[in-house]
Amino acid sequence: MRIGKILFILSCILIYSIHISANAKAFVEYSSPKSSLESAIVKELKSDDSVSAVINLINHSFNLPQKLKFTFGGDDGPLYDSTNNEIIIPYFFIEEVKQRFTKAKYSETGVNEKQATMDSLMHIMFHEFAHALIFMYEIPVLGKEEDAADGLASVLLIEFFDGGQEIALSAADLFYLESEDRTELDEQDFWGEHSLDLQRYYSTLCHVYGSDPDKYKAILEQDYFSEYRAIYVYRNMTIS
Ligand SMILES: [Zn+2]
Repeated sequence: MRIGKILFILSCILIYSIHISANAKAFVEYSSPKSSLESAIVKELKSDDSVSAVINLINHSFNLPQKLKFTFGGDDGPLYDSTNNEIIIPYFFIEEVKQRFTKAKYSETGVNEKQATMDSLMHIMFHEFAHALIFMYEIPVLGKEEDAADGLASVLLIEFFDGGQEIALSAADLFYLESEDRTELDEQDFWGEHSLDLQRYYSTLCHVYGSDPDKYKAILEQDYFSEYRAIYVYRNMTIS
């Protein structure tokens, strides 16, 4: 009886695994590195579980109508190519993100540049995944699709990952760092498909705050919005 029960449970696990694998439509491909720097990035991506965590969540939670390839490498991106149903994230972009965090001296904080880069990469993967979902299911989007993609990325991180708020905060920090590239606005900023980096930063903070207003109440204190460095302050104040 007991053996029968065990066999039954094992069968269920097996059937479940086969079901998962049959639906495992999201997968990753690494383009051949063209330099030692790209080789190092590939090594870092493979040694970290951030990429596989995103892929696993997609395959366990979404029954995609077709295969979806995440390609690391390439000359352009991050982007979603609807023709091939492919998400492309270039190595140079990952290095650029890491350099931004490195220059911002993230290692002086609780989040080192490697972790901040991987966190941001998870947000970017889910952002592009949102574009793929919108295309595959022809989902109507009111307002900017880019904002919808940011929102879904933050919500998936916050709802499905332990410490997902912290991951989203790294993505917010990246938006803030990118906003520093811009010293003045031109017309393109107003008709462009993306919201301003600073708006993306605040929107992401709003999602984090809304997920747990008590824990993240310091986000509301305007003083902490005024200085980039102060981001660490509210982290240190609110995370125990
Ligand atoms: Zn986008």
